[in-house]
Amino acid sequence: MSELLYGSTRGGGGKVTASQAILKGLADDGGLFVPDSIPALPMSMKAISELSYQETALAVMKQFLTDFTEEELRSCIANAYDDKFDTAEIAPVKEAGGIYYLELFHGSTIAFKDMALSILPHLMVTAAKKNKIENEIVILTATSGDTGKAALAGFAEVPGTKIIVFYPKDGVSPIQKKQMVTQKGKNTFVVGINGNFDDAQSGVKAMFGDKELKKELNSHGYQFSSANSINIGRLVPQVVYYVYAYGKLLQKGVIADGEKINVTVPTGNFGNILAAYYAMLMGVPVGKLICASNENKVLFDFFHTGVYDKNREFILTSSPSMDILISSNLERLVYKIAGNNAGQDALFMRELSEKGSYKITEEMREALADFTGGFADEAETAEEIKTVYQQTGYVIDTHTAVASFAARKYREATKDTRKMLVASTASPYKFTRSVMEAIGGKYDEIEDFALADRLAEISGVPVPAAVEEIRTAPILHKTVCEISEMQAVVKSFLAV
Ligand SMILES: *Cc1c(COP(=O)(O)O)cnc(C)c1O
Repeated sequence: MSELLYGSTRGGGGKVTASQAILKGLADDGGLFVPDSIPALPMSMKAISELSYQETALAVMKQFLTDFTEEELRSCIANAYDDKFDTAEIAPVKEAGGIYYLELFHGSTIAFKDMALSILPHLMVTAAKKNKIENEIVILTATSGDTGKAALAGFAEVPGTKIIVFYPKDGVSPIQKKQMVTQKGKNTFVVGINGNFDDAQSGVKAMFGDKELKKELNSHGYQFSSANSINIGRLVPQVVYYVYAYGKLLQKGVIADGEKINVTVPTGNFGNILAAYYAMLMGVPVGKLICASNENKVLFDFFHTGVYDKNREFILTSSPSMDILISSNLERLVYKIAGNNAGQDALFMRELSEKGSYKITEEMREALADFTGGFADEAETAEEIKTVYQQTGYVIDTHTAVASFAARKYREATKDTRKMLVASTASPYKFTRSVMEAIGGKYDEIEDFALADRLAEISGVPVPAAVEEIRTAPILHKTVCEISEMQAVVKSFLAV
């Protein structure tokens, strides 16, 4: 098979291999790495429908990561998709009320980021070996909650790596905080900062860009890398579950071979839905991709007007992992619909950073026909959780509810009766309070863990191990620092 190379969406910096793209994360010109072409599936959907999750992962990933040997990929996959997941299916599909929910929350942090972050560390270590990098890889991450824990769980005890996570001390939920500060693993470091998420993010970016620091680390045998969702090593593993889900629907006889399905994805940074689009381009029969937003509906507006405009109020919602005004991965779609025109993409991205908005051309809008936007406000999100529960007994989380509502709305508006797959991105146990209140009742007096027990009673789904574990786990990370001290803290962890 010929090698698939990766280049920047903004055209600078030349072509790199998949393993180099994974190590670099972001291209040198600030663009995102995209493959020269989207490869086709290596076999028919019928053949794929007989495969396990791990086998599907191999079939998909070897098409993208062509400089990895099959042996290397098998090993990464075996290390990632093992009993860290609480079901052998890894990503089961559950039907409720005429919608097929693809449950992506069976990993160690009960949210969909585990799907990619449980394999990224292994891809990165393999990539480092391939490129003869002898330094230890130090992952630096700023988190508003979910990514930090998923990255910690993924990198914990992975030889040749260390991970340092900064979170806003008072800006994450109590459960999210407890999940992080109880993280085990000698190579993990968790730091609360006296500041907000933007401060944490800026501090981390400054360290990535600091040439002196880079030299100093290098002389001690370290180099930084990023586990951010723009890394191609996070995108490729996400393509897998859409291929797998279609295969399972086919295997169960829900759909006929070649029958198109629609897919709705609750969207924030546009990584998950972009993976669904890549799966479609590889050959999975998909009709429409419905991009679901919460009240921060920049993407909904983009799909309906062709204008991306982040100049608006940032709204805190009950689906916090979708509270985002700059969807980084959209750049990969913009590049594609511009006809793989890097110059055009670079222009839009400059406008975005200078004015906070850009307007795509009419031709580009026509190329967006595979997509449509939907959204749910806070009341609609809560109502959706309640309705699905009352009609089917199935409990969905707030993020999934946004998508579920958008999927139903789309169906009503278009009379498009194709089978609908909804990406279910978090366990309801990750957002227990919002979910319980949506179903009905006042729980101000009840603390989070007791509320989880209530949820288990009404849903019949046992409290997941991820929640049980942190109930009584000892706090292992107590470091708190000022924004100005972040670099000093990193150096002291690494004894540099
Ligand atoms: C991150 C996240 C999303 C958004 O996914 P993107 O790939 O950023 O669009 C949706 N739901 C949950 C629960 C998440 O953690």
